[in-house]
Amino acid sequence: MGTLSTPRRVSVLGSTGSVGVSTLDLLEKAGVEVEVAALAAGRNVAKLAEQALRWRPGLAVIGDEAGLPELRERLAGSGVAAAGGCSALAEAAAADAQWVMSAIVGFAGLGPTLAAARSGAVVALANKESLVCAGPALLRAAKLAGGAVIPVDSEHSAIFQVLEPQNLAQVSRLILTASGGPFRTWTKAAMAQATPEQAVAHPNWNMGAKISVDSATMMNKGLEVIEAAYLFAMPPERIDILIHPQSIVHSLVEYADGSTLAQLSPPDMRGPIACAFAWPDRLPWPAPRLDLVNSGPLSFEAPDPERFPALNVAKAALAAGGGTPAAMNGANEAAVAAFLDRRIGFLDIAAAVTETLERMEAGRLFATSNDPLESARENDATARRVAGGVIVGLGRS
Ligand code: NDP
Repeated sequence: MGTLSTPRRVSVLGSTGSVGVSTLDLLEKAGVEVEVAALAAGRNVAKLAEQALRWRPGLAVIGDEAGLPELRERLAGSGVAAAGGCSALAEAAAADAQWVMSAIVGFAGLGPTLAAARSGAVVALANKESLVCAGPALLRAAKLAGGAVIPVDSEHSAIFQVLEPQNLAQVSRLILTASGGPFRTWTKAAMAQATPEQAVAHPNWNMGAKISVDSATMMNKGLEVIEAAYLFAMPPERIDILIHPQSIVHSLVEYADGSTLAQLSPPDMRGPIACAFAWPDRLPWPAPRLDLVNSGPLSFEAPDPERFPALNVAKAALAAGGGTPAAMNGANEAAVAAFLDRRIGFLDIAAAVTETLERMEAGRLFATSNDPLESARENDATARRVAGGVIVGLGRS
């Protein structure tokens, strides 16, 4: 299609999830000819096998090895190699692809994302947790291998699109927009009673459960501040958050001359994925178009750190630096899982993260390794262990 220098050999990690499915759907709708090197997922064998039979990758990997016999059975005779487990995920990530979508959720995405970066591929990065836990190491690995990391998070994609490379020194502020999530207008008392079903019902985006809960607590925006600081080498005090409930203005860059540039599009993840896929070109595809006449008024408001304390927890973790962002992320993943299991209440999520970081600080439990990846792994594991104890203490009897 066209004269795009789009990559032709691609891999999708986390292919069965919300971003993974959107990626394959975009490739289908854009009609670009791609060869799929690898598809990888966590547990959903049936969906992975269905995708593999449609896209015929060289390799299909299921993270949970228990699913491997079934995957082999479903792919028998198809010519698609099946594998399972952590090392197979890294193999899928480093398969011979020019472009790798990193869309595994959570810390589990770090190893595969690094393997993709080290292979020299262009990494389309949805897995924000890997940047939060080991941002500088990940970006360095991509640079050393001659590849690149292109953001897929809609806010960072927006900034990436309006950041003028020749004027980086003249950027005065990055402004990340946030929908405010499903509890934007709720009182704190109502939020205390919120159920997992209410928390995952995002008003504008259809996303996986973990990021949906992060959006409801606004930890998602906190993770995004850390992501932006690393990706765009921006000091935390020059990254602001603006609530924009319609999710049409995806983020803004303010320059020293007072001019502010924004990127707008309908809330559809295929937009940022298309941008990361075609970069530095533009992908012609039948995208939903922005209709400002009928989209209703666009509104903006300041965030409320009192009802959404996770915002300040994340900013403090970024300021503390070292292993604190990785520990915060690990504690948050443990707390979100506990909330989804109904072991703690909604407001307990941020409380559990705060308490975990305080206990780690008081007990001097942060990793001391000089290897940033080893230290990220250690801080993640310690945070999950400490958070486990905190969660039991907060738990509903
Ligand atoms: P989903 O929960 O929908 O999908 C997660 C994917 O990761 C699935 O394919 C899942 O496989 C796979 N997975 C989970 N655990 C493992 C594991 N241990 N090993 C290998 N694969 C695993 O999440 P989303 O698609 O919503 O989000 C993916 C990432 O993208 C997250 O980091 C999120 O923050 C980020 N993101 C998402 C956006 C969205 O709109 N959804 C927007 C911006 C960023 P399976 O289903 O087979 O278990």
